[in-house]
Amino acid sequence: MNNKKRLIITIDGPAGVGKSTVSKTIAKRLQLKHIDSGAIYRAITYKVLTLGTVQGAIKGNGNNGNTLSEDDIVTIAREVKIECKTSGRIVLDEDEVTKQIRSQEVTRCVSTVAAYKGVRDVVVNILRELAANGGVVMEGRDIGSVVLPDADFKFYLDAALQERAMRRYKELKRKNKDIELYKIQLDIKHRDKQDSSREIAPLIMDPGATYIDTSVLTLKEVISLIIRKIDSILRMDSMVFFDTSNLFYYIVCFILRLGYTKYFGFNIHGLENIPATGGVLLVCNHLSHLDPPAVAVSLPRQASFIARNSLFTTNSLFGWLLKRLNVYPINRDGVDRDVFKRVTTLLDDGKICLAFPEGTRSKTGQLQPAKPGIGMMISMAKNDGVRFSVIPCRISGSDKAFPPEAKWVKKYPVNLYYGKPIDVSELLVKQDRSYQAIADRLMEHIGRL
Ligand code: C5P
Repeated sequence: MNNKKRLIITIDGPAGVGKSTVSKTIAKRLQLKHIDSGAIYRAITYKVLTLGTVQGAIKGNGNNGNTLSEDDIVTIAREVKIECKTSGRIVLDEDEVTKQIRSQEVTRCVSTVAAYKGVRDVVVNILRELAANGGVVMEGRDIGSVVLPDADFKFYLDAALQERAMRRYKELKRKNKDIELYKIQLDIKHRDKQDSSREIAPLIMDPGATYIDTSVLTLKEVISLIIRKIDSILRMDSMVFFDTSNLFYYIVCFILRLGYTKYFGFNIHGLENIPATGGVLLVCNHLSHLDPPAVAVSLPRQASFIARNSLFTTNSLFGWLLKRLNVYPINRDGVDRDVFKRVTTLLDDGKICLAFPEGTRSKTGQLQPAKPGIGMMISMAKNDGVRFSVIPCRISGSDKAFPPEAKWVKKYPVNLYYGKPIDVSELLVKQDRSYQAIADRLMEHIGRL
């Protein structure tokens, strides 16, 4: 990943979703450059409208009767000189057009102009050049999917049509613009349709993007969600580089992490809940073989794992590999006190241990009832006076990326959520301290994530 100054962040989404305000604020907070790709399509459209009308756009466009063909419009796009100033001002052939490009006329025609391949080629080149040295937050429709597919962070903002129309209406009213809500809603609907159905670079969510439904969130909440996400990953990146206690583990994780972030798209939430030091028992639901490595590469510290002993015996090379990666065998047929003792010792030594309370992968994608073993593990560690945190973790998407019967993985984003530490005394309530009851309470915590 790029260092913080060279980060590339993309924010895509439909019209009126609040991309501009969110992107500007994120850029300001992280001291990055903000680039509004829509403004460039608008500037070209503005120029086009000074020379004629756009065929196929909503009626009422342009003052000049001369209808321009696709070729005319592409030629104009190639010839105009557009500058995006750091202040957000847009200069077109030496004239400032920042306000003019927001006119209703431009808004009505821009999606038609932006659908032409020749126009998109021109704009994509401009955008890539602007992002060449990194350090940008770029907003648009196809930024994460087409313009900057290797961006460090991709977000996709969404909201219901009515909500977006209402936001735009309020914004225009604040600027004393005389406009009716239903007209805004119709315009947005029309643009949505054009932007999503065009052949080249339509509005779609890149599979690696984090989806945020902003309908029920305030602007502040959206911004803080994005900042927290970026911060936690950056923190993870800088921390994991220093935990080289097991060099082999470190190298394997380093390689796997590239695979998870670049291939699947990896979203990690709540990493701030993992304490920097001390014993941690991570309890996670289980969907796929991708889960243990996903947890390992997401953590800022090295972890230990428990896996069924048959994995160690069927293939001796694989068994050797697992041992080198802090994996300990467990006998799932009976009560394996030895491995529980091992976990107690690891927690006492301040290590992170991962356990799957369900014991096996879910075949339905739903949470399954927990086995009592995890309850016994916690009770044993507690009875031995060990101090440790219990942190619930929920994984999703890994069953789609690697379904149980599949032979190979496919591109599908994997999401990990770490919850707040669970109060162990709450797990061991006096009324029912049976191992099964403890295990059930843990599953409830995972279910809430
Ligand atoms: O973001 P804004 O609403 O200003 O964008 C204006 C129009 O520019 C969009 O409706 C869309 O047709 C086009 N656009 C695009 N690809 C982008 C950004 C904007 O096609 N990356």
